[in-house]
This record gives sequence, structure tokens and C-alpha cells, in this order.
Amino acid sequence: MTRAYNFCAGPAALPQAVLSEAQKDLLNYKGRGLSVMEMSHRSAEYVAIAEEAEADLRELLNVPSNYKVLFLQGGASLQFAQIPMNLLRGHSTADYVNTGMWSTKAIAEGKKFCDVNVVASDEHNKFRGVPAFDTWQLNDKAAYLHYAENETIHGVQFNYIPDVKVPLVADFSSSILSQPLDVSKFGLIYAGAQKNIGPAGVVLVIVREDLIGEVLPGTPTMLDYKVAADNGSMYNTPPTFSWYLAGLVFKWLKHHGGLSAIAAINQRKAAKLYAAIDGSGGFYHNPVIKTYRSIMNVPFTLLDPALEKTFLKDAEARGLLNLAGHRSVGGMRASLYNAVPEEGVDALIAFMQDFQQKMG
Ligand SMILES: *Cc1c(COP(=O)(O)O)cnc(C)c1O
Repeated sequence: MTRAYNFCAGPAALPQAVLSEAQKDLLNYKGRGLSVMEMSHRSAEYVAIAEEAEADLRELLNVPSNYKVLFLQGGASLQFAQIPMNLLRGHSTADYVNTGMWSTKAIAEGKKFCDVNVVASDEHNKFRGVPAFDTWQLNDKAAYLHYAENETIHGVQFNYIPDVKVPLVADFSSSILSQPLDVSKFGLIYAGAQKNIGPAGVVLVIVREDLIGEVLPGTPTMLDYKVAADNGSMYNTPPTFSWYLAGLVFKWLKHHGGLSAIAAINQRKAAKLYAAIDGSGGFYHNPVIKTYRSIMNVPFTLLDPALEKTFLKDAEARGLLNLAGHRSVGGMRASLYNAVPEEGVDALIAFMQDFQQKMG
């Protein structure tokens, strides 16, 4: 059976080599007589799997030793609440940048816990870029500044790390591990796994250790980063299979040369797809300002929206799956995460050109 190319925004494509390896381990983990899904999270075998995953991730991202790496649950969406619960630390206000749907959701949740100061918003431009940094209304008394590094739905990505006085908090759900990152610039980074890390069920939090330990009154024990950190993310039963599979993805990345190597491929993939869209004479269109175009999620529309259904059906027939845009914005979207091979992007471009010839 041949596998299709999967452009889903999430849960997203996983490397075929990783899936094959997981398949081997599924019934009988390394000959131990049981599945990795059937192991106690306290067993020596599983603790080794968990610790190795963390060590590999630290190596890939070059995480400084004064940062905790946490494997949590509740997805990136729970982080929208867990972040203020943990990082307000007696402050009454926090800064947020609004560059799309996910920042908007983080802002709405943040408002339940503090005065949210939206330092800048691109909403009036329909989220086509990042508002110029010199226009941001920053507040030095803010507990932190939150932004979404890559807006998965609008396809808008920061091309710089904001330089602010307060701890920087960033949602990297759809861009983590796509290129090298200077973790030391951040107070906290978080990412739901199901885009560029592994299967759904685990969310990664990397947090500077001096920022944790002072939660809002009433914060559930399960949502206290310090409790998670002190217990190696095993205060209760962690999502063992998702954590294990994320570990395999980290090994796959290391095997393929780490983040600089994958970044070069990601840049190529995105560049050729944008070039194809821009070169289509308007048949396809991406609205994002060029300098803020995402290398992970490429939304595009068809000149004639009536052709969308046929486009998706014909694409599927060619083994190109999940190209529909998010239900909130419509159109098309190709997510080009690490596990989407360059040949997949080539196949997509060839299909798009054929479709235009046929319909244009
Ligand atoms: C998918 C996504 C989320 C939500 O993730 P869940 O794990 O489903 O809660 C948040 N932020 C960004 C940038 C995303 O891409």
C-alpha cells in the first residue's frame, strides 16, 4: 500500500520511518514481551524512554540547563490558561500581540485571569502580517508578553524574536523544531505535539525555572508547572504513548542532521510552493505580506471559489490529502511540517499546475 501525502494542519503527518518503528514496538517493545502502551510509567523501561526523549529534545533545541522541559496534557489550548495561572506572579496585567486566531484565543483566555494589554493587533488588516514592532504599546509592568510565533490558520509567522524587557512567552505549536531557536531569549515556549512533534495528547512546555513556583490562588495542583517539574512530568500518569512517539520523532530529526538540516529543507519546500502560487497569474493567491509568510502553513485561495470542491476532490484522487483551509477562513491550506517530504510538495505543485491548465 502506498501512503498519500498528508498536508493536514493537525494532527499532522508523521515520518514514515517513525511509524514503522512504532509498529515494530507496538506488540512487543524491544523483545520485552509487552507493548510500550502497556508499561507502567514508573517502570525502568518507560522512565528510560521518557528521559531519552527529553535529552534528545534538549540537544536538538540546545535548551539551557536553567530551563525545565515539561510533557503535559490539555493541548496548547490549556496553556492559554495555565500560563497566566503560573506566570502572573503577583502582577495584574500581561501583554499580548494579536496576529490571528490562536493569539485571539490566548487573549480571550488570559482575560479570565488578568488585565490583558493587547500591544498590537493585525485584525484590521485581516491578519496578513505582524504589526511593526515600533508601534507596539508595551507595558513594563506586564508579567510577560505573549505571542503566537506561527499562526497556523492565517499562515502568518514572525521573522524575528521580539526584544522586550518582560519574560517572552510564545506559542510554537505549529513551528517548533522547524528551524534552530535561541531558547534563552524566552521565558516560556509551548507547543501542542500534533503538528510538528508527534501524535495528539501531549503538549511541550519549556520554561525558565526562576519563573515557576508562584501560582494564582486556587490553581489546581495538576496545573502547577513546579509540581510537574518536580515530578518529571509524572505527578500523575502522563500520555505515555504520545511521549514515546515524540521521542522517536526527536531521534528521527537528530538522525537527519538536526534543526539546521531540516530548516534548509523547510525553506526550500515553502519557497517553491509560494513561487508556484505567485507565478500562477492570480489563479492561486496567498494574501500574507511576503516577509511574514509562514514556512509551515501555506493558505491560498482559488480565483474562482466555485472550483474549490473539485480542487479538493481531484487532489485527493492524486494522493494529496487534507488541503482544505480552516473552517473559519475557508480556501485551501497546505501544511508543510517536517514530516511532509519535499517530493510531496513537488507533487502538490505539479497537481496545482495541471489543475490550472484544465480549469484556467
Ligand atoms: C493547533 C494550535 C493550537 C491549539 O492546539 P490544541 O493542542 O488543539 O489545544 C494553539 N496554537 C497554535 C498556534 C496552534 O497551531
